[in-house]
Order: sequence, then structure tokens, then C-alpha cells
Amino acid sequence: MGCAGNILTLRDELTGALVRVTADTVVNATGAWLDRSAAVLGGVGPRVMGTKGSHLVLDHPALRDALDGRMAYFEAVDGRVCIVYPFLDRVLVGSTDIPVEDPDQIVTEPAEVDYLIDVLREVFPNMAFGRNDVVYTYVGVRPLARSDADKPGQISRDHSVVVDPPNATRDIPIVGLVGGKWTTFRSLSEEATNEVLQQLGRSRTASTELLPIGGGADLPADAAAIERFVEKMTTASGMGHARAQSLLHRYGSKALPLAQRLAASGDVPLQHAPDYSAAELSYLCLETGVVHLDDLVIRRTLLAIRGLVTDAALAEIAGVAAEALGWDTARAHNELRTCATALRERHNVRLQAVAPDAEPSFEASSMASPAFGQS
Ligand SMILES: Cc1cc2nc3c(=O)[nH]c(=O)nc-3n(C[C@H](O)[C@H](O)[C@H](O)COP(=O)(O)OP(=O)(O)OC[C@H]3O[C@@H](n4cnc5c(N)ncnc54)[C@H](O)[C@@H]3O)c2cc1C
Repeated sequence: MGCAGNILTLRDELTGALVRVTADTVVNATGAWLDRSAAVLGGVGPRVMGTKGSHLVLDHPALRDALDGRMAYFEAVDGRVCIVYPFLDRVLVGSTDIPVEDPDQIVTEPAEVDYLIDVLREVFPNMAFGRNDVVYTYVGVRPLARSDADKPGQISRDHSVVVDPPNATRDIPIVGLVGGKWTTFRSLSEEATNEVLQQLGRSRTASTELLPIGGGADLPADAAAIERFVEKMTTASGMGHARAQSLLHRYGSKALPLAQRLAASGDVPLQHAPDYSAAELSYLCLETGVVHLDDLVIRRTLLAIRGLVTDAALAEIAGVAAEALGWDTARAHNELRTCATALRERHNVRLQAVAPDAEPSFEASSMASPAFGQS
């Protein structure tokens, strides 16, 4: 909302509440929204330009088998670099590269789906591809450094750290992150931290360069260590081998305490999404900052991106989330409707449209199913 002196006024987008905080510096890591955020804080701009990129997730066993674990990386006829690779039990295809003005107004256009399908037809001429193979789409905006390049593909993908010094109304600097990749997020963080330290006139006293984080800490490194870890999980929890492997794959070394927690509360597969249990979804709701149903369905689980969300599965998951997060019926209906709309309209998931005045049904998970195979 703004900065005066060293006081920032922020609005909590969930509650609408205004909060005031004091700061010695601000790090602006808002990606494609960097210029908008900088403008609110009286910063300099424009510095970024967004290009949107859409990806398709295909249920195409023949292509997946043909790829056999390999990624195909190639130039399409229009010069755009595309990738195709096996993603879990699906195939991921990407991506488009289209300049956009407003990062809030982006969707995967039908023409982008057709473009990527045409690219596949060109590269794999002996296989058939169609829109029916697409089980999920997603789109994001790359926060690229502003450039005069003629084609989006020519814009540099490098990142940089920029500083807006204090001005007449703001006493503190803004450190902005321009560009960046998933794969380089730690080195960019280090560069940003170095800049913040310099702005504060302090020196680094600790480095996290070699520090494993999250489920990567204490992660078993080779096949034998993985097997020992899985055995430890099955012994500690009584859960089956396949389920333990799947949790290790999802949560890294955090899977061990999680397995014990799930076993204690009854790790029963959901009826309509049997890769997950109600206990696992409750854990995600309670421990990973889930606020809305789409946080859980789209961003905390692999259900949506694998194209596994059906109307029945969504209703069942909504029931679990409602119980875990204490939603009343009206809230649960609202969450279900909003999530279904997002999946249908933004991710091309084939769900039924719910009329605005209809009450979508949601259900608590069935506890009648047998638990995941016991060890
Ligand atoms: C199509 C596509 C393909 C990509 N491919 C690759 C790849 O192959 N390999 C790779 O390593 N990287 C890839 N990337 C890059 C990567 O996904 C990220 O886009 C990049 O790392 C930028 O991340 P970020 O955190 O800076 O920005 P974002 O991920 O966009 O995060 C910015 C966040 O700031 C929030 N925000 C905005 N305004 C405000 C505000 N006022 N207050 C609070 N929050 C706000 C936004 O909601 C958003 O969550 C790709 C990106 C796209 C879009």
C-alpha cells in the first residue's frame, strides 16, 4: 500500500486488514508484478516485461513410453524452443512465449493448446495427438528484464538485483529481484542477501550455500539408503512399502514423521483419489498454510496437475478440507464452486459446471475403504 519514512502499510489480501510494519529495507520479489509493487513504494520502473508461457499435461502412454525417461528439447518451426518430457505418469509439453501487459489477466488460450499439439505432431509424426489427450494446462508469466528484442525468445533469461535508493518520502531502500529461474533461486537469494547486507552496512556471518533445506535435509542419497529409509518408515508406521515410497517421493525426509502421524490417525485411501488419504490431506491443510480449497488441490498435491480431479474427487477432498479447517457448509460450497471454476476455466479440467444458485454437494471421506497395504 505504501511506504513513508521506514513504515510500510500493507493490506492482508485475505482479510482486508491493514498492517503497519517498520523495516530497514524492503525486498521486492513480486516477479512479473515487480514494477507495480515498486510503484506503490515510490520505486523506479519499468524494469520487467512479462511473457506468458503455457504448458500442457497429456495422458498419452504411447508418448510416455517412447520418451522412456528422456526429455526431448527442440526448436519448433517458428524458432521457439520447446520441451517434452515424462512427468510422473503423464507427459509435460511446453511452452509458449507470448508478451503480456497484465500478469493478472492470463489464461491458456485454445490457440496455444493447438500450437503445442501441432508441435508434437511435427516432432512425433508417427503418433496421434488431440485435445482429448490434454488433462491439465497451466500458464505463468516470466518476469524478464525489460528489453528491445524483436522476439520474446531473444530476451535475456538472466537475473539481476536492482536497488531503488531512499527518496523524499521513503527512508529505506528497495532491493528488487528481476528475472530468475526455479533452478537458480538459491544463487539469486544469495545475491539479494549480499545486496541487503551492503545496504544495511553489515557483513555476512553465516552461509546457507551448502545447507540442505526442507525434505531435502537428510534425504537418502542412493538406492540402498532409500531402501533403508523406506524400511524405517514401514517399521515405524506399519504402512505398506509402496505407500512409504510414495510419501518419500512427495515429502523427502519429512516422510518419516509424517508416516507415523498418518498411521496414528488411520491412513485410509480416499475413495475417489486413492493416491491420497484423508489424513494426508488434513496434514497438508493444517501444516502447510492451506487457506482455500484450490491451495490444496492445485498447489499442495499432484492431483490436479496429473488430471486426477473428477467432480466426485473434488467433492470428497472438499469434505476433508472442510473438516480439517472447520469450514461451515456455506464456506465449503463456496470453496468447492471457486475451485471447480478455476480448474475448468484456467486449467482445462473437464468438470461439470455448477450453476451459480445451485448448492454443490461435498462429502466427508469414506472410512470404509481398507487402509493402504500394510507391511
Ligand atoms: C512458462 C514458464 C516456464 C518456466 N520455465 C522454467 C524452467 O524451465 N526452469 C526454471 O528454472 N524456471 C522456469 N521458469 C521460471 C520460474 O517458474 C519463475 O517464474 C521464476 O523463478 C520467477 O519466480 P519469482 O518467485 O520471482 O516470481 P513469481 O513466481 O511470479 O512470484 C511472485 C509472487 O509475488 C506475488 N505478488 C505479486 N504482487 C504482490 C503484492 N503486491 N504483495 C504480495 N505478493 C505479491 C505473486 O502473487 C507471486 O506469488 C518458468 C516460468 C514460466 C512462467
